[in-house]
Amino acid sequence: MVETELRRDPITGRSVLIDLTAQPHPNDFLLEPVRQDDEPAACPFCEGREGNAGPEVLAWREHSAANAPGWSVRVVPNRRPMLRIEGSQAGRVDGIYESWDGLGAHEVVIETPVHDQPLQDLPADRLWRVLWAWRTRLQDLKRDARFVSAVVFKNHGRAAGARLDHSHSQLAAYPIVPSVLHEKVRGAEAHFDRTGQCVFCAITAQELLDGRRMVSDTLPIIAITPFASRVPFETWVMPRVHAPRFEEASDETLTAMSVVLGEVMAGIDWALERPAYNLVLHTAPFGGGDDRWFHWHLEVIPRVTRWSGLEWGSGIPRNPVSPEEAARVLRSANPRRGGL
Ligand SMILES: [Zn+2]
Ligand SMILES: [Zn+2]
Ligand SMILES: [Zn+2]
Repeated sequence: MVETELRRDPITGRSVLIDLTAQPHPNDFLLEPVRQDDEPAACPFCEGREGNAGPEVLAWREHSAANAPGWSVRVVPNRRPMLRIEGSQAGRVDGIYESWDGLGAHEVVIETPVHDQPLQDLPADRLWRVLWAWRTRLQDLKRDARFVSAVVFKNHGRAAGARLDHSHSQLAAYPIVPSVLHEKVRGAEAHFDRTGQCVFCAITAQELLDGRRMVSDTLPIIAITPFASRVPFETWVMPRVHAPRFEEASDETLTAMSVVLGEVMAGIDWALERPAYNLVLHTAPFGGGDDRWFHWHLEVIPRVTRWSGLEWGSGIPRNPVSPEEAARVLRSANPRRGGL
């Protein structure tokens, strides 16, 4: 490719600038590496301090009592929720301004009882239990008629917004479809209206043929670096065949996902030298009207670049690593696959 190229995301229509003029070495990124500075002795997520994290709504346990030690994954309400279960769906109007109660659910998935064990270090069978917790909680939140959609996300490292080192992800259920998910759903619907095809299925088909951005293609779950990657080593993990909802994924699908996600996370951890990152899981809004064009996917977003005035002013992120190069690195050197 040429040294700089504007690329349009086929789902959202948003542009990014792939800019190779800087030719960065990973050490040149404005890295804010993950600091592990929480005192394990004060961590509310460590095994033995279940009371500090709060009463569990779900846990993976073999033979132990609720809210006691002896778990491998544990889900609790967020102690500082941005959205609350109690509230009204009705809006308020003040002249030209509209507002709503922060109604919703906000839960924390504690991914391991061990303090210093990041997600990328969990073996596939333990990662499976984290995915099981996401699936189970989404199924449950979906039954609450007040919620229209939910997003699962993870912050790893201070640069990614994490406040605690102990590995955890979060679920947020909303009374609306939040704007990022809305943009994707409407973009996917527009593509479907034009072509009669799911845009994610179309991306999958083209990437399987092309191969340059393919990271993993041997299982029912695939991983690609998207054509219009917003950040270095952005990676999408999604089902090979059409599936609108993560919460309807089978046990076998979760098994494939735990293998692929584990490889992707280990590869990125190696390639970018333990970067901060966010994970975002997008599943179709609960209503069911979008099932033909929406396709669930997980986005891995390493936080190794910063938005400057250029990005805030234009809305076009500048990515100094081409997705083709990132996929090549992730294919060739994967600690979990023994590529090193
Ligand atoms: Zn801890
Ligand atoms: Zn699809
Ligand atoms: Zn998405």
